Amino acid sequence: MPEMPEVETIRRTLDDKVTGRKILRVGMLLPRLVKWPSPGEFQALVTDTVITWLARRGKYLLFYLDSGIVMVVHLRMTGRLFVQTEWTDDRFARIVFELDDAKRLVYADSRTLGTLYAMPEAELWRIAGLHTLGPEPLSPEFTPGYFREKLRGRKGKIKALLLDQKVIGGLGNIYVDESLALAGIHPERAADSLREEEAAKLYGAINTVIEQGIQYGGTSFRDYRDGEGGRGSNQHHLSVYGRKSQPCKICGTPIAKGEVAGRGTHYCPNCQK
Ligand SMILES: [Zn+2]
Repeated sequence: MPEMPEVETIRRTLDDKVTGRKILRVGMLLPRLVKWPSPGEFQALVTDTVITWLARRGKYLLFYLDSGIVMVVHLRMTGRLFVQTEWTDDRFARIVFELDDAKRLVYADSRTLGTLYAMPEAELWRIAGLHTLGPEPLSPEFTPGYFREKLRGRKGKIKALLLDQKVIGGLGNIYVDESLALAGIHPERAADSLREEEAAKLYGAINTVIEQGIQYGGTSFRDYRDGEGGRGSNQHHLSVYGRKSQPCKICGTPIAKGEVAGRGTHYCPNCQK
């Protein structure tokens, strides 16, 4: 599933290809992916508008249009968003935007769980997951003080807290496992059991793994591709995620995989306490 570094990489690779472009036509190959307003209204709102700004919040991409409408895309599990310079068919193309430079912006999705919306900026509260999104790693709002405050009194597992989008926006399973590994913290620890220096270490680790993820263009295991259809390379730089039974890069102990907070969880049983 694309997380913040993957969605940010898509934003960066799409930005100069779509900003300033007019959307001439919208092909609704799978209208049910539009969650607001009706698919017909969505098509009418987006057609014949110019994309003025491509922004991102958490895992959401926001296309600001010159009509005052914002088109929002969430890729969920297997969504891909890319610009085609040649008109080749993608068997998973679901919504296709024809641009005024003869290129196409394609939303493709094999499992069809992605969601699209269009509405005035003042109505973005309609998208609950966007409205309640917590501060993002690397943002000025995500401070060490904020993070410590969120740990206080939380008896649940630290992994579950880090996955909570209301607490930190944009972190998902891969980067949560990597953050905990870098900080040497076991994923099943109670959030409020972290000592001051552990909390500080984890705060720094979250920013580091997200920064590294963006630097390497995201993590491509299965479906994720950037806005040009390219693969990221962060999968070659992971400490624990996807490395079950392989030796820990620090101590050589085989990486363990269990289930924590309902998600497959990778960790080093020796380094993470
Ligand atoms: Zn280790």
